Amino acid sequence: MGKADLHIHTTASDGRLSPEEVPALASENGLEVIAITDHDTIDGYFPASEAGERIGVEVLPGVELTCDFNSRESHLLAYCFDPEDPDFLQLLAHHKKARLDRIEWIVGQLTQQGLDIDKNEVRAEAAGGNVGRPHVASVLVKKGYVGSAKEAFIRYLGNHALGPIQSYYVSHEEAVERIKGAGGATILAHPGVLYSREEIEQWIDAGLDGLEVVHSSHNYDQQKKYREMAEQHNLLMTGGSDYHGDGEGYLRNFGVITTSLAQVEKLKQMTRQRKKISV
Ligand code: AMP
Ligand code: FE
Ligand code: FE
Ligand code: ZN
Repeated sequence: MGKADLHIHTTASDGRLSPEEVPALASENGLEVIAITDHDTIDGYFPASEAGERIGVEVLPGVELTCDFNSRESHLLAYCFDPEDPDFLQLLAHHKKARLDRIEWIVGQLTQQGLDIDKNEVRAEAAGGNVGRPHVASVLVKKGYVGSAKEAFIRYLGNHALGPIQSYYVSHEEAVERIKGAGGATILAHPGVLYSREEIEQWIDAGLDGLEVVHSSHNYDQQKKYREMAEQHNLLMTGGSDYHGDGEGYLRNFGVITTSLAQVEKLKQMTRQRKKISV
């Protein structure tokens, strides 16, 4: 039985490999299906899909959408939406701008703390991809303020260090609605230690389709808990490595943490029906 990895980042956001490089690595690691899930952008989907077609790796439309869950930043995975849906593309454009504004705010906070850092240095680090805190971390490492990205998150960029981040992402309800409006499926990314059972039920009430049961950050008990919740609520169950590249501080579970093709088939079936209903 084949396997899929439905959570992978590229240079279109904060990953290290280009979208063109990922399918070949996927094939080497025994993956038949992948989804590129960059933060708030689908720019990597089209080149990855073309590269995948050439070597027989199927690439599903995907994105990891940031949203506001009760004033907390949250990650929602979306799959198999229409990648040309104008309303959905407009939402991604809004989030691209929200990311820039947020990085500017973060850089302002660091400047107030006496660090010499400029938003253009951070944008250069992203090299045209969607900006994020890992790009700020790279600048802080290069300038010698910290020894590693991990240290940058602990000292300056983590939610504890920054406090509530000023951001302008859509609410979780709106995120779910708009992904479904584009014919896509909605999966809560790495619920891990982020949510209580009641909070996951709030997501389900908002129309969530599934849980990322298996993830590089989940221990056995967490996987068991999310599998049981998914079964109880008849939700899809996915798995993803959240691969960002092999560099320092990144997770290397590529080809190890996966989704079964049976779940991929269920996901496709659901979104096929959704597209029929929405047209
Ligand atoms: P942002 O998209 O700006 O909210 O940044 C979140 C991203 O930062 C995550 O997707 C990870 O790639 C990365 N990240 C989060 N926490 C850490 C950490 N402690 N060390 C290294 N990278 C992290
Ligand atoms: Fe990331
Ligand atoms: Fe995430
Ligand atoms: Zn991710």
